[in-house]
Amino acid sequence: MLSSKTCSDNPLLEQKSLPKFSSIEPSHLQPAVETLLASMSKKFAALESNLNPASASYSDILPELERIREPISYAWGVAGHLNGVKNGDELRKAYEESQPKVIKAFTEFKQSRVLYDSMKNVLESEKAHLSQEQVRALESSVHAMQLGGVGLDGEEKERFNEIKQRLAELSTTFSNNVLDATKMFSLEITDPADVGGVPESAKKMWAAAAEGDSEKGPWKITLDGPSYISAMHHLGVREHREKLYRAFVTRASEGSGDKNNVPLISEILSLKLEMSKLIGFNNYAEQSLSSKMADDVAAVDEMSSFMKEKALPAAVRELQEITDFTRANGGEEYSEAHIPKLMPWDTTYWSERLKENKFSITEEELRPYFALPKVLDGMFGLANRIFGINIEAANGEAEVWNDDVTFYKVFDEESGRHIASFFLDPYSRPENKRGGAWMDVCIGKSAATNRDIPVAYLTCNGSPPIEDTPSLMTFREVETLFHEFGHGLQHMLTNVEIGDVAGISGVEWDAVELPSQFMENWCYDKKTVYGFAKHYETGEPLKDKDFEKLKLQRTYGAGMMTMRQLYFGQLDMELHARYDPAGGESIFDVQKRVADVYSAHMPPIEGDRFLCAFNHIFGGGYAAGYYSYKWAEILSADAFGAFEDVGLDNEEGVKSVGRKFRKTVLGYGGGKPPSEVFKEFRGREPSSEALLRHCGLG
Ligand SMILES: [Zn+2]
Repeated sequence: MLSSKTCSDNPLLEQKSLPKFSSIEPSHLQPAVETLLASMSKKFAALESNLNPASASYSDILPELERIREPISYAWGVAGHLNGVKNGDELRKAYEESQPKVIKAFTEFKQSRVLYDSMKNVLESEKAHLSQEQVRALESSVHAMQLGGVGLDGEEKERFNEIKQRLAELSTTFSNNVLDATKMFSLEITDPADVGGVPESAKKMWAAAAEGDSEKGPWKITLDGPSYISAMHHLGVREHREKLYRAFVTRASEGSGDKNNVPLISEILSLKLEMSKLIGFNNYAEQSLSSKMADDVAAVDEMSSFMKEKALPAAVRELQEITDFTRANGGEEYSEAHIPKLMPWDTTYWSERLKENKFSITEEELRPYFALPKVLDGMFGLANRIFGINIEAANGEAEVWNDDVTFYKVFDEESGRHIASFFLDPYSRPENKRGGAWMDVCIGKSAATNRDIPVAYLTCNGSPPIEDTPSLMTFREVETLFHEFGHGLQHMLTNVEIGDVAGISGVEWDAVELPSQFMENWCYDKKTVYGFAKHYETGEPLKDKDFEKLKLQRTYGAGMMTMRQLYFGQLDMELHARYDPAGGESIFDVQKRVADVYSAHMPPIEGDRFLCAFNHIFGGGYAAGYYSYKWAEILSADAFGAFEDVGLDNEEGVKSVGRKFRKTVLGYGGGKPPSEVFKEFRGREPSSEALLRHCGLG
């Protein structure tokens, strides 16, 4: 039969074990998605018609749903992964064309009334007999459906869907405006004297943008991240920096013509408020926090205000130190007579100079001490020490999408059992691989779908090896590798067998960075670092003084950096919790009000419109959630503090705390509320003491 032939020819439909990477082609995607969506919607319709809310049981619902969703999730996951690591016009096109269909299919699940009623009923009647994980999985599904408006009828439902639709449009337009406005400005430099002291890499980048020569110019600086940041760090001419800064903080605002985001922000805030009220919340912040670890707005306020008390005095001191350094080294131009107070375009530049003066090490000099194979050995050795797992390369046991990729198997040391696997794709391939680093799910653990061995993707963008020289990493890249490995461990070492809450699934947004940031802390543990930081040619260990400098660098500017995050987080919270878009106050009045408290050491300049480019909250998913960065940092630092408490050199102590971390934070995944998980691990509520100490703010 033709149809069965098509099926067996499509490697995306072969899902028994690991993806068939060597035979998957972009042309397979659309037929696979069509086939799988059609079969999913048939099975879902059958489920719906068989469900009787009054008598449905747990096993009729969640395990069934997992089985129904699994084939498309599997194929779509593989496609998304390849889209990131082996991108090309054909795949991108196929992916973009299929995406709306996949999203629509999953949205239909969320709006099924009979499914919703059945789950609610099971929660009421069966709760006492269900495990905590089962209850969590059900509750989070019910909650997600409520947030999706399943409980609304008639006009209210219509209005709700209308708002959702409009918000999606607004968010896209907001981001596009930022993108376009970013492109609208550039600064051309023609005098080579103006780029004196600028690193080669930045000059090259600017020259390329102007089609000039990196030594002779011209150079073009844009507001695009890397270009702009290099200028603020290294461009000595004050007027140039001021121009760039002013352009940057007024992107997509009143002066940007039809790319002005001011009216969009008002509409977004009004619609979000209206939407939240429709589904029973007082404001959007309440809605956002209803699926996060933080209990309520007051808890976030309290965290910010507590951190501020510690960080603000440090920020004032740091700014004073930068000012003193500038006055002493900047000459007449930076004298008090000339500039009574440093401006934002001064502080970034001079802070970099002060940092160079203090630490005098560059990332480049240290690369030879961080060869990837050694770093991996060290990281796996640490995982063995603290979590009791063995990691072994198993090349040839899985198909890969590129020869750079290594496949690893994870074994439990005690039982010798193969418990998880992962792919590591470590090097950058600018021609077809997305930048940055990330962890993603390849296969999730689930009893319903008979998947016992979770599999993760770890993707980084390090420098590839050149001839006999291995990949030499910057220290920052080492930290990033540990970070992604931390996410991977939570996915791989899960003990939960319900797909929706196994591993990283179902973990609250403000807690999901706990394991990843936790792992980064080990990059500052001497024993761990000296296990791998050896010169790749001579074997000579990293110099003590350089390790000390790395530790000092970590805390450099911590006060100002913390204040900046708190300021953004509180402004986000204020706008979504307490601001009335229909009242007399403008969003910029709110910004000023929050800045008076959270940016008191360095008030924004007159006409600062950074809100108009605040993509995280208006163009992305961080609305009333920006605080999560700090929140998770507190948790991860405090978790690491448990190891410090027993003493990092106390082998037995570290081992026993490590096993506890594996059992709780990594093992429970999303199967328990994160505050309970944390409490079980730490024996108490989270405290910010460890983070403050690590940042030198304690
Ligand atoms: Zn992360």
